[in-house]
Amino acid sequence: MFTSHEIVRITVALFASGLVLALVPGAWAAAPAEAGPVEIAKWKDGKAGAFMLEFDDSAPSQVKNVVPELKKRGMIGTFYINPGAGHYNKQAWEHDIPALGMEYGNHTYLHKGVRDAANADEELAKANEVIARCFPDRKMPRLISFGRPGGVPWNITADEQKTLLAKYNLVERLPFNGAAIHLKTAEDMTRLVDKALEKGTMEHIDFHGVGGDWLSASLPDFMTLLDKLEACRDRLWITDPVSYHKYVTERDGAELKVLESGPQKIRLTLACKADPKLYDLPLTLIARVPADWKQCQVSQGKEKSTVTAAGGAITFPALPGADEIVIQPAGK
Ligand SMILES: [Zn+2]
Repeated sequence: MFTSHEIVRITVALFASGLVLALVPGAWAAAPAEAGPVEIAKWKDGKAGAFMLEFDDSAPSQVKNVVPELKKRGMIGTFYINPGAGHYNKQAWEHDIPALGMEYGNHTYLHKGVRDAANADEELAKANEVIARCFPDRKMPRLISFGRPGGVPWNITADEQKTLLAKYNLVERLPFNGAAIHLKTAEDMTRLVDKALEKGTMEHIDFHGVGGDWLSASLPDFMTLLDKLEACRDRLWITDPVSYHKYVTERDGAELKVLESGPQKIRLTLACKADPKLYDLPLTLIARVPADWKQCQVSQGKEKSTVTAAGGAITFPALPGADEIVIQPAGK
């Protein structure tokens, strides 16, 4: 099931307080080989590794080649759009592609760089407005990924940028790792998928053109990568930068407390320091349950679900900071 490196050990958090230890009954305490009654999975759904596909500049070949190939496989990519760029296809980017469930990031409005803080403010605000318009069903404010445009002047200080990113709820993405720049062949790219799975890491690739345009990756190489991702998707969390950022922030800031762990029920709380208005992605919890609990009912507030145990444990989503979580054997 879950090997040790796939799971974040939070035994310290669980047992740091003597009070919590005292509440954990003998059955758990007498089994020191067990990892602990409840853990937060390192990655969502207990996946072994994580991966992200990012696409910059709203390049036309992304509309033509990337979106159809992702759609065919039911995969998502994150597109760092420039709504003010001359080649920007408004119909595709503001209607067709959002409807497919793709994610967008802020890459500034024009991709011409910024002269000063006031100009940077305008560039970020205008790109954010378009992104908000593309996804009218999503509540605001929400976190949006930011990718700084390369190869253009960027005349603001680190502090000015930090202030602006906070103002617009922008989260800077991971350092650029470019196809056709850092990763030149299909093998370079698929090797990164293996790395994510073997080392349990988050890996990502940033594309510009695919089968055309600038800094272009070949379409056959791109399809090889997608086929590899598709073959591994049972074990790989293929996600977007904001979901990744939320999961890691919530996971690393979480405080999980087992309030009760007995033969009838397990009760726990999952607190988190992050602002629940912005950090609203459920974490994946893994709870060890008694051997005769084949089916469990998991409830948190009004949410109730039935989860089947596997190898003496259940894996389920829980929202940090919300109501108490109760696990009981189903049908009892
Ligand atoms: Zn760019």
